[in-house]
Amino acid sequence: MSNEQQLSLFEDSSIDSNDQKELIPKDAKIPIPTGTYANMTELAQHCNQCHRCGLGKTRTHAVVGRGNLKAPIMVVGEAPGQTEDETGLPFVGKAGQLLEKILASVKLDTETDVYICNINKCRPPDNRVPTIEEMDACKPYLLEQIRLVDPKIILFVGATAVKGLTGDKRAISKIRGEWMEWDGRLCMPIFHPSYLLRNQSREVGKPKWLTWQDIQAVRAKFDEIHKNQ
Ligand code: SF4
Repeated sequence: MSNEQQLSLFEDSSIDSNDQKELIPKDAKIPIPTGTYANMTELAQHCNQCHRCGLGKTRTHAVVGRGNLKAPIMVVGEAPGQTEDETGLPFVGKAGQLLEKILASVKLDTETDVYICNINKCRPPDNRVPTIEEMDACKPYLLEQIRLVDPKIILFVGATAVKGLTGDKRAISKIRGEWMEWDGRLCMPIFHPSYLLRNQSREVGKPKWLTWQDIQAVRAKFDEIHKNQ
């Protein structure tokens, strides 16, 4: 018997890979291997029927993402709020409008330059922060989104986004504006726009002013990458 034939005896023929794929939205213990989804439509179908964590019970829509599916910049936030849950689109409430303004201030267009998504695809009740278990259950979808979009730069919007993807638990005030590398990609944490809505001062050193510095650094890096391509 050849080596290949011997090795094939190890395989469990009762598990069909298509059946395994269909189990993904049912249980967080079912892995989502790299390359599971051929495109974002397939991934969104699973998210909309998903109960890998308890947030699936109360959602109206899963909020997968919006923007350019091949964008050079990916924005990763925390989780959908009420408007996002109702519309199925991320960052469309007041905080989302401010995010659009922040990006537009350095001429970044959300339809061409950016893809926007969240760590969790379903809204946590009362907009609470998602738990570690909820973030871990949803993370494989995000990893697939990152693989499909393949951005050059990831913008982490708020501390939960950083923690959910990289496990880094430092306060956003300590790490915002600093380039970090994750999975070979350049990442920049910035303040969440909802925090900026509560801190409106534009004085030097205040969160809004700091965010203006950060987004200019992102624009400069974006131009540098573009120039070297
Ligand atoms: S938050 Fe993510 S893991 Fe939880 S039910 Fe929604 S899509 Fe599934």
